[in-house]
Amino acid sequence: MTDESTNDLETLAARARESVDACTSLAAIEELKVEFFGKKGAITALLKTLGSLAPDARREAGARVNAVRDEIGALVAARQAELDREELERRLAAGRVDVTQPGRGQQPGGLHPITRVRRRIESLFRNAGFSVEEGPEVEDDWHNFEALNIPANHPARAMHDTFYFPDGRLLRTHTSPVQVRAMLRDKPPLRMIMPGRVYRCDSDMTHTPMFHQVEGLVVDEGVSFAHLKSVLHHFVERFFERRLGIRFRPSYFPFTEPSAEVDIECVFCSGKGCRVCKGTGWLEVAGCGMVHPNVLGNVGIDPERYTGYAFGMGIERLAMLRYNVNDIRMYFDNDLRFLRQFG
Ligand SMILES: [Zn+2]
Repeated sequence: MTDESTNDLETLAARARESVDACTSLAAIEELKVEFFGKKGAITALLKTLGSLAPDARREAGARVNAVRDEIGALVAARQAELDREELERRLAAGRVDVTQPGRGQQPGGLHPITRVRRRIESLFRNAGFSVEEGPEVEDDWHNFEALNIPANHPARAMHDTFYFPDGRLLRTHTSPVQVRAMLRDKPPLRMIMPGRVYRCDSDMTHTPMFHQVEGLVVDEGVSFAHLKSVLHHFVERFFERRLGIRFRPSYFPFTEPSAEVDIECVFCSGKGCRVCKGTGWLEVAGCGMVHPNVLGNVGIDPERYTGYAFGMGIERLAMLRYNVNDIRMYFDNDLRFLRQFG
């Protein structure tokens, strides 16, 4: 080996030591390995020149190149281990969990108060032998009005504030069309309730454009108004979990005859008179009556042989009374502070 190549070797070793110290990433270490030990690397190139030397000179030069190669190899390995450790520490620090921080917690979900009340009503009537029926919310005029003894131009239609579709169909204004469908499908005896959403173009403290009704229907031979009174009285006492006075006021619905509105003793003042019952001591909770013979005839049930009763209640109204809520819109504002009270 010439003096020139000895100098080259020392310069190379010095450059390698500096480069290793300057490496700050594992990627840089890999580049450095290629630079010195790769196929076209500086050390590899030096080793290739050994072949052209005389045997004695080759041995001596080979030993020195190998010594430098081993030294640089050891430096690279040590620097790599150091960087590996730093990388691991950095990752551990980034993923550290501070167990002294307060937890985020999980809010338990709950059923909407209207759903809770609907299920409670269903359960009470199921226990009394009623089945639970459902029907479409988009109805036609015949099921929603005509079949229920409300022909076109009947003044009762004005009370319904109906949402119509351009093709003449409508959003059902009450759950009564489900009765019509049930009576067309099944023959008496019938004993069922029909809970569901209904729609009317109306909005204030006690009305929302969408609300829930539950309707009841019993049709059989010998069904009387006395049966109706008994079923409703039992229901309201079980629903409010207390003894309650009940009264029936004569009223008018096109689909029942006779018809009545049902009041219960005020659940807030026990009939003494308060703000909720407007001092009367009574709260209106339902409309009801004996199924009109025309309605039975419309669905092919012989009104000479069968009689029936029907009743309808607003589920929001019952929920407002049960939970003492005075604005129906609160049920649909989706305010979690309100809804969580029912969890
Ligand atoms: Zn009262």
